[in-house]
Amino acid sequence: MERDPDAFADDIIARYGRHISSSMARLYRFMGLATVEWGGQGAVCTDVHGREYLDFNGCNGTLFHGRRHPRVIAAVREQLDRLTITSRLFAHQPGVELATLLAEVSPGDLQYSFFCNSGAEAVEGAMKLARVYTGRPEIIAAQNAFHGKTFGALSATARELFRAPFEPLLPGVRHVPYGDAGALEAAITDRTAAVLLEPVQGEGGVIVPPGDYLPAVRELCDRRGVLLILDEVQAGLGRTGRLFCSEHWGLAPDIVTLGKILGGGVMPVGAFMARADVFRPFDENPYIHSSTFGGNPLASAAALAALQATLEEGLAEQAAEKGAFLRAGLEQVRRDHPDVIREVRGLGLMIGIELHREGLGGVIIADIVANGLLAIHSLANERVLRFLPPAVVTREQMDRALEIFAAAVARAEAVLADV
Ligand code: PLP
Repeated sequence: MERDPDAFADDIIARYGRHISSSMARLYRFMGLATVEWGGQGAVCTDVHGREYLDFNGCNGTLFHGRRHPRVIAAVREQLDRLTITSRLFAHQPGVELATLLAEVSPGDLQYSFFCNSGAEAVEGAMKLARVYTGRPEIIAAQNAFHGKTFGALSATARELFRAPFEPLLPGVRHVPYGDAGALEAAITDRTAAVLLEPVQGEGGVIVPPGDYLPAVRELCDRRGVLLILDEVQAGLGRTGRLFCSEHWGLAPDIVTLGKILGGGVMPVGAFMARADVFRPFDENPYIHSSTFGGNPLASAAALAALQATLEEGLAEQAAEKGAFLRAGLEQVRRDHPDVIREVRGLGLMIGIELHREGLGGVIIADIVANGLLAIHSLANERVLRFLPPAVVTREQMDRALEIFAAAVARAEAVLADV
């Protein structure tokens, strides 16, 4: 690049502060993030200074295929040259191919897909479908849950910090302790339309429920005639080592929500899928719920190529293997620094590192970023750092990431000893 990268970055951050968010601009400067993201490939992100970072954040778990997966890029390029946004009067091929493949590879009888543009939008649609299908108004969600920040999804998101400024939210959404099927059963009434859960809580701090929880919830929903919506926006499509996270327990929801990984890290795509009988109200009247951009050819082409790549390259299997390797390495760091790290947990490449003290999270993140590793804390639990690397991460990259992280934790321990 011809320009002076320092001056360029300074100008971008300054204008970011003036026109997008002054507090984020301050945070960028304070956390040593005052540069400009410029490119990247696979597990590597590059900034305008030409520095390279191992991206173990990956747009909060979106970049599972790595950056610019060649197959996804090629599919979008090809689509771009022919048909991008349609009239919406005719069917188009990429959307139909995507819906067909999703129906083939998803668990149970999930047959219909509705495409939208984000995870929150997928949750909105799932909640609306549950209401119209059952004719009942209430949804039961879990404490510590994160389902997005649009009004309906926010009503199911648990964290007060996100909810309080916008109340009153949607009535009839209740929260029960996650992992406790008894508490869930006690909360179900004849007004309950659905139970909405993440199969592994992501933003809540990577909480894997007890092994018997989701099977008990499935049984309970069947027995009480209530729909089970699993929000797989973060845990779905390979992240946890299975294509659909619910497969870890051999069960299928009545409705599943998808996002993040669905667009292959190239296009923003969300979706919810449902059984044919559950989807009937939307099937019979396709105009009661719609989205201008949802499932457009470019987004669908990206999602189709991404799903094919996941299947053909065994990315879910790779996530299981690489996740086990990374968790073992992190567990060693925990054993070496038990006063800093409380617990390492997760499934596949959805990994949480719980610290003893919330304040240490920022110190460790600033340190690893300065040394070339990107990770983030959980949105709803700042004490938990998350590693969400792509499935294409190499052994050398994982070794390097563990080295950077271990050194940062050792330095954080030294800070602790000084206070
Ligand atoms: N549901 C879950 C489980 C999520 O983790 C997220 C985002 O992190 C969402 C929904 C919201 O997705 P989006 O940010 O694309 O609206």
